[in-house]
Amino acid sequence: MHDPVIGIDLGTTNSAVATVEDGRPRLIPSRAGGRLTPSVLGVTKAGERVVGQQAQALAEEHPDSVVWATKRFLGRRYTPELVQQAKALVPYPLVAGPSGDVRVKLAGRVLPVTQVSAMILGELALDAQAHFGRTVTKCVITVPANFDDNQRQATREAATIAGLDVVRLVNEPTAAALAYGLSRGFEGSALVFDLGGGTFDVSILDVKSGVFEVRATGGDPRLGGEDFDQRIVQWLLAQVDDELRHVVSQDAQSLRRLKVAAEAAKRELTEHEEATVTVSGLGDHASGGRRTELETVLTRSFFETLSEPLSRRCLEVCQGVMREAKMDPRSVDVVLLVGGMTRVPLVRRLVADFFGRAPSTDVHPDEAVALGAAVQADELLRQSGQALLLDVASQSLGVGVLGGRVKRLIAKNTGVPVVARDIFFPGTSGQAEARIPVYQGESEFQDENHKLGEVVLKHLHVAARGDVPLEVVFELSGEAILSVKATDLTTGNMETVRLEARAGLPHGEAEKLGAEQANYAKSQGVVDAKRAEELFRKLLERGEKLARMLQKSAQENPSPEAEAAVGTVQRLLDGGRTALDGKDAAKCAAIARQLTQLLSGKQEPRA
Ligand code: AMP
Repeated sequence: MHDPVIGIDLGTTNSAVATVEDGRPRLIPSRAGGRLTPSVLGVTKAGERVVGQQAQALAEEHPDSVVWATKRFLGRRYTPELVQQAKALVPYPLVAGPSGDVRVKLAGRVLPVTQVSAMILGELALDAQAHFGRTVTKCVITVPANFDDNQRQATREAATIAGLDVVRLVNEPTAAALAYGLSRGFEGSALVFDLGGGTFDVSILDVKSGVFEVRATGGDPRLGGEDFDQRIVQWLLAQVDDELRHVVSQDAQSLRRLKVAAEAAKRELTEHEEATVTVSGLGDHASGGRRTELETVLTRSFFETLSEPLSRRCLEVCQGVMREAKMDPRSVDVVLLVGGMTRVPLVRRLVADFFGRAPSTDVHPDEAVALGAAVQADELLRQSGQALLLDVASQSLGVGVLGGRVKRLIAKNTGVPVVARDIFFPGTSGQAEARIPVYQGESEFQDENHKLGEVVLKHLHVAARGDVPLEVVFELSGEAILSVKATDLTTGNMETVRLEARAGLPHGEAEKLGAEQANYAKSQGVVDAKRAEELFRKLLERGEKLARMLQKSAQENPSPEAEAAVGTVQRLLDGGRTALDGKDAAKCAAIARQLTQLLSGKQEPRA
């Protein structure tokens, strides 16, 4: 038996884990019983960590004991601009880590956002472990197509802390297209419009003979459902009595209530033309001061007016991607909608108008990405050659040169993997060390791009300026992770360069957090195993009832099919009891899955 490999959609709002079973990708249910796991982390009064639905429930009463949407800060550097952006979106404070990484304050502790992601990933890994009855370590994780190098590295770092080995990172839209395309044998151009809780991605892929080639990608990493919620929150705030408005806008609990109400109203407007918004207990929670309440009605059309600037941003991204792909929007063969926000009628209308066709409803907007990740994981495991992914660099990469400019080595939308090289000369004569800054972004000016770090080459051949050629080689892997090499061509001195400005965790911390997570997973695994055993015993009892029923009907209406059905259930029950006696958790889990299918009527008990 192969070790299972899972596909993980580590989302801003929700996460999901999937696997391929009997040739079909399926979501693995969470141990809490849901299909999706809210990407929310909380710490209870007793200091226990809770993730997902439990954390969401904790937020109702103790909004300051949870953090959510931390994916927005993953792999970013702590800067005043980031803090400003965060203030508009989330009430919890960000804190700078020692290497400039971003951390959150939660229940008196300071946690790196990488650790928050690791805890969510860890929870999904435990769900998979409960599903398979064995430890799962290998996974494919999806990331937004426009995640830069640091954000990809941080995702990998989070996975390592969670004890997961990332076989490959896959872009979310590519995963969605895989989930759609493979099962249907689709060929043509597929546009994936992915508007989630925090990010917006658009990709256009060519699908031909099992090859999924990304032609162009674009997006806005700071545009998602939360921004639509914020528009409603601002509108609600404007309706609070003048003398309390300031207090309400500074009070975390009130803001949380407004945000929850805004999100609920937005969802309601997906189904109805009007939503009544009622929010009570707005005001001063910190010192137990005055409170007020708000009741108002939001219509769909006014929500659409409020969202106008956001819709415009969505369309601009689509236009940019079409331009880069050199395509007319009307020549796209299928438009796939991904992300919870694509349920909003306004968004559907925008898409239909822009592309001149109704989007496909065949992929599930919340599940397609995880399912596609599972398909890719399965493919990598079996190496069947059924689906090959060819991605592109989502942003241009270059080095800083004189005059504050950037010399581009790899242009946006170049197919990956790719290697690019160029020759540079240190700025001043007689330099013994060269520092070449590396930038990601589309501007020709350094300060309008994102600095990834610096190539530092020491012990240079000391000579006059212009006499020390340095060769810089950029290697962008198939999953768009950059490695850089620099060579002093005079001495042949070569260094593989670690980009220094990476806001990763300081040396040693990831290992420490990994050990902490492993301990947690171990103790949680014991609890889960006990629970799984109890549930399995109950399932066997139900299976026995089914067997008796089938036996009775086989006696009343004998037929070879009826006999075979009895035989199938009996074999499963016998196998189940043996596995239980032998404490074979993986076998128990496999039989539990089959029995559950039979009992739920999803599968006929045929031999
Ligand atoms: P995702 O990150 O893909 O899980 O998307 C989550 C976003 O989709 C959140 O902003 C949700 O408020 C939004 N969303 C989910 N379902 C709906 C719905 N039925 N109507 C409107 N927005 C929704």
